[in-house]
Amino acid sequence: MTNEETPLRLLIIGGGPAGTTTATVAASLGADVTLVEDSIIGGAAHLLDCIPSKTMVATSIRMNAIRGAEKVGIVAGRSHVDLARLGARIKTISGGLASATSKLLESQDVNLIRGRGRFTGPNRAVAETEEGELGLTFDAALISTGSKPRAPEWAGVDGERILTTRHAYGLPTVPEHMIVVGSGVTGVEMVHIFESLGARVTLVVSRQQVLPHRDPEVAAVLEDGFLERDVKLLKGARATAITREGDEVVVDMDDGRTVTGSHVLLAIGSVPLSDGLGLDTIGIETERGYIPVDEYQRTNVDHVYAAGDVTGQLPLSSVAAMQGRKIGRHALGHPVAPIDFSKVAQAIFTEPEIASVGLEEAVAAAEGRKVRITKVPFAANPRSVIHGDTTGFVKVMSDPATRVVLGGTIVGHRASELIGVLALATRAQVKADVLVDTLMVHPSLSESVSDAGE
Ligand SMILES: Cc1cc2nc3c(=O)[nH]c(=O)nc-3n(C[C@H](O)[C@H](O)[C@H](O)COP(=O)(O)OP(=O)(O)OC[C@H]3O[C@@H](n4cnc5c(N)ncnc54)[C@H](O)[C@@H]3O)c2cc1C
Repeated sequence: MTNEETPLRLLIIGGGPAGTTTATVAASLGADVTLVEDSIIGGAAHLLDCIPSKTMVATSIRMNAIRGAEKVGIVAGRSHVDLARLGARIKTISGGLASATSKLLESQDVNLIRGRGRFTGPNRAVAETEEGELGLTFDAALISTGSKPRAPEWAGVDGERILTTRHAYGLPTVPEHMIVVGSGVTGVEMVHIFESLGARVTLVVSRQQVLPHRDPEVAAVLEDGFLERDVKLLKGARATAITREGDEVVVDMDDGRTVTGSHVLLAIGSVPLSDGLGLDTIGIETERGYIPVDEYQRTNVDHVYAAGDVTGQLPLSSVAAMQGRKIGRHALGHPVAPIDFSKVAQAIFTEPEIASVGLEEAVAAAEGRKVRITKVPFAANPRSVIHGDTTGFVKVMSDPATRVVLGGTIVGHRASELIGVLALATRAQVKADVLVDTLMVHPSLSESVSDAGE
């Protein structure tokens, strides 16, 4: 509140996880909140990125289960994916989540405006709506406009055969031969998805390992899995040009090699959406299009916050939502602790899944830091053996002197769920002995997390 009678007027531009979480927290604390969103409530996370890609992963997991059915005594017939039905399912899920979030915000009296927001002065903005331009005033504002996939000119993205991730959900049929350019988190998830759906897949890897900044042991498990599934890895080359020749696409690489397929999907990062926001009218600075913020998500202009992908901080829905939670409280004058970015749990939704939190072994080694590393393979876990999927391991990093858990990595079935235990242990700085002393269900994958504390 600005004072007891006048609630703080908070304007939010962009209704993804950062914007909607800020809105709901601030509204619950008594602010008068206006949220301007030009697409759907829930943002690109719900409509184009996080939710659609995980919906495709869900179908991929079922397809792989059918492929491996014989292993568990089932004789299954041939199956194929109907992309039209999958596309419809994605729309239903995104629409359902958007509607649930809108209802929640409306129940909190958040003023939802469908339109494009733009600042016009230090405490003024407009929303361009179908009905015309709407003038808005505010005491504090949040910019949470997100990002879009990077699509450089040399790639010639056409949305038909040369694609970004945002075209991946509406394809009429499964591509015959998908070439994925980029082997970061998004690239490897797309490889997993399209190979599972029935495409032949080639992955262009600019370095010598997939997931170039991650633990080499983890990358090796993923690469072995891809090779078993006949994914072709083209390592040590960068794509420099993509051309369409009829129903084929040709990717040229900087070492002179070329690869031909039916489709190309670019997964080479994203660019922030900060153009056209009238930032100059309010004095907000940007760096390469990103909006820098301090530990409380404040921009260089005190009463304007920024959160989510537009800040260039860790680009995850979970992080954007947490930033929103903090901003909602901070803007209303409540004390908040800044986010500890070194303890964010992260997952890669491939098969096997990969999840990590806190300190990574490779980082500790690079820093010359002494850590105690304990590793338990799922091959020794009864539940994994029963499931017929023993790939992967649990690795726990702890302090050799105090035994406090510093982080962990899990590769394997349900790693994205199991990492929660290690995320809590890392956040609460518990000793590895607590993991060991915790009686887990038997038989369960969690027993390996407990054992890895030993
Ligand atoms: C393929 C893919 C998969 C992903 N999977 C995951 C995952 O599994 N887990 C995870 O945590 N993260 C995932 N992410 C990342 C996640 O989607 C982003 O970090 C998250 O969407 C960022 O949220 P945000 O609040 O910054 O904004 P966004 O979700 O990007 O939403 C911003 C909204 O603002 C709107 N907007 C922009 N400009 C204006 C304007 N001027 N006026 C009004 N509205 C405007 C946009 O239309 C958009 O709807 C994935 C990303 C990609 C690309």
